[in-house]
Amino acid sequence: MNQPDVIVIGAGPAGLTAALYLARYHRRVLVLHDGTSRALRGPMAHNVPGFPDGIAGKALVQIMERQAMAYGATIAEARVEDIQRSGDGFVLSGGGQSWRTRALIMATGVSMNEVDLPDAVHEKAIADGVLRYCPICDGFEGTDRKMGVIGADTNGAAEALFLRQYTKDVTLMPLAQSELTADETAQLDQAGVTVLYGALDRLEPTPVTMTVHLTTGRTVTVDILYPALGLRPRSELALRLGARRGEGDCLAEDSPFGAGVDGLWAAGDVVQGLDQITVAMGHGAIAATRAHNWLREQDGHALRK
Ligand SMILES: Cc1cc2nc3c(=O)[nH]c(=O)nc-3n(C[C@H](O)[C@H](O)[C@H](O)COP(=O)(O)OP(=O)(O)OC[C@H]3O[C@@H](n4cnc5c(N)ncnc54)[C@H](O)[C@@H]3O)c2cc1C
Repeated sequence: MNQPDVIVIGAGPAGLTAALYLARYHRRVLVLHDGTSRALRGPMAHNVPGFPDGIAGKALVQIMERQAMAYGATIAEARVEDIQRSGDGFVLSGGGQSWRTRALIMATGVSMNEVDLPDAVHEKAIADGVLRYCPICDGFEGTDRKMGVIGADTNGAAEALFLRQYTKDVTLMPLAQSELTADETAQLDQAGVTVLYGALDRLEPTPVTMTVHLTTGRTVTVDILYPALGLRPRSELALRLGARRGEGDCLAEDSPFGAGVDGLWAAGDVVQGLDQITVAMGHGAIAATRAHNWLREQDGHALRK
């Protein structure tokens, strides 16, 4: 491929939607990704419109890749380690390779803080649906079931109360120690959430349950365990370029419209907001269209005002 007009970093729902739109604008688009889309780990999404029987995350990513490539997008696996401004564009580098582009879309997602289990056991527990990381995604599937939340702090308390809307049986347990305030404890008590104390000792998943062993000797078996341990946005490359920061190291929530640096847009989970497939797709469409129109303006192809 000649120098792409736009490079998209990320081949999740955000990056692949951006690539589809750009390819359909007849832009040369290169998608670079390091194979770690969170969507690949979702066993079955039931909240993506158009898939009434649900769709596995991996299948969705494969369909989206096929659709973007059908219109001419190129998708390559590579980890981008550095980005520098150069002339009227950017130079990206990683793994001994480099790429040059005029416009750049960051669709790099987030990393999750996870509970401590061997990788294969952890991924099997996710696939079995006994370990879940996204109550908005799949709280519904836990309706009237026994749920646990790990992380007795403000985040954990909020998540436990959110899940309480789906079931009467919610137990909140600390990872290391409880950091709940008296007011949070009172609210949880009033909502009927069980709060346990003592650090997490170990987890014991089966295909249908998760048993939590606490250091106090107490064990709790639930149908579904949600760790509420926070996320780490993969925003460092964009922030180093000068992109606008949102809350908690996310990029600012209007970054799909422009990330605060000429030629740079962002889309998906890395942007502050709701971390969902549908939102990532919407961001991808906006970022791609903004990038395309910006290139048209640069080239004198847009209506002058
Ligand atoms: C277990 C689980 C279940 C879920 N279930 C649902 C659900 O049912 N419904 C729903 O709406 N959402 C669900 N989600 C959330 C959903 O997966 C995310 O909201 C969605 O994937 C966000 O898309 P994205 O494109 O922004 O990021 P991602 O899909 O995470 O993609 C990020 C991309 O950036 C790439 N990348 C990052 N940094 C670099 C770099 N330096 N160099 C190269 N590539 C890089 C990665 O390789 C990846 O391709 C679930 C998440 C998990 C973990």
